[in-house]
Amino acid sequence: MQVWPSAKIRAHLGVALGLALAGLAGAAFGAWPWTAAALGLGLGAGWYLWMAGRYHRRRSLVAEPFPEPWRKILNRRVDFYRSLDSDDARRRFEDDVRIFLAEQQVYGAGEGDARLEIDDETRLLIAASAAILGHGMPDLEWPRMRDIVVHPRAFDENYSGEGDAHISGMVHYQGPILYSERDLKLGFRRHDGHNVGLHELAHVLDLADGAADGVPAGAAWVSSAPWLEIVSDRLRKLRQHRYPHVLRDYAGTNEAEFFAVAVESFFERPRKLRDKDPELYTMLSEYFGQDPAKTPQRRSPRKFR
Ligand SMILES: [Zn+2]
Repeated sequence: MQVWPSAKIRAHLGVALGLALAGLAGAAFGAWPWTAAALGLGLGAGWYLWMAGRYHRRRSLVAEPFPEPWRKILNRRVDFYRSLDSDDARRRFEDDVRIFLAEQQVYGAGEGDARLEIDDETRLLIAASAAILGHGMPDLEWPRMRDIVVHPRAFDENYSGEGDAHISGMVHYQGPILYSERDLKLGFRRHDGHNVGLHELAHVLDLADGAADGVPAGAAWVSSAPWLEIVSDRLRKLRQHRYPHVLRDYAGTNEAEFFAVAVESFFERPRKLRDKDPELYTMLSEYFGQDPAKTPQRRSPRKFR
């Protein structure tokens, strides 16, 4: 995410000034000078606040020191963050994390006193998932209309955690993102190609162009034949059990799940994915602007409670 995209902000300022000047011109030559002036100035100011206000808020947010307890949690729990090898990369990651948390609604499931209390670690792991996916895409903006609701553990279609509840995360077509807190944390403790934090946000990228078709918005290869061919070829092989063991079987469900599961493996087992399916790895590497197979892996200590 961009903290202060100067060109964009200048363009918004230009429109705002244009509206204000049009109002003043109307005041000088029109029949209702006060009304025209107030309208032009009001519209200009409103436009600027609406379009650029968030960047001012981002700039003051990142001017504050990053909370040290948050840094400790990221260091302990997020291998991707630990593996970043420059101060600049770490600062960008931290900025993405706090901007995400400042702009998104993340809360526990339930009502009133029964609402689940969620801790900083849970919030940070969700924001870190977004920061990992966006680390090589500085212009990526996450849609802000989706609430992120955290359930204590896996849930079923009725959002109940009883019985054979097996859903660890879910994205509604135009609604909230749901996470199981337990599975979210587990996803960052193991490198088994299963990370629900990344998985659900990969669906959000896929849905950004309006369709859950396994083709994320903004990809240079959005409508490109090779990508669609890769997806249908790999889906066929997965279903016939002829695909190497680098994606979870769930990838064979449909195009959308294929993309989300491939993203998990791309970040969790990049070398294995690159070795077993270089074509798929290259497509994802180009889209995300990252080459995680080249990053020296610095794993968290294996002791967890
Ligand atoms: Zn899914």
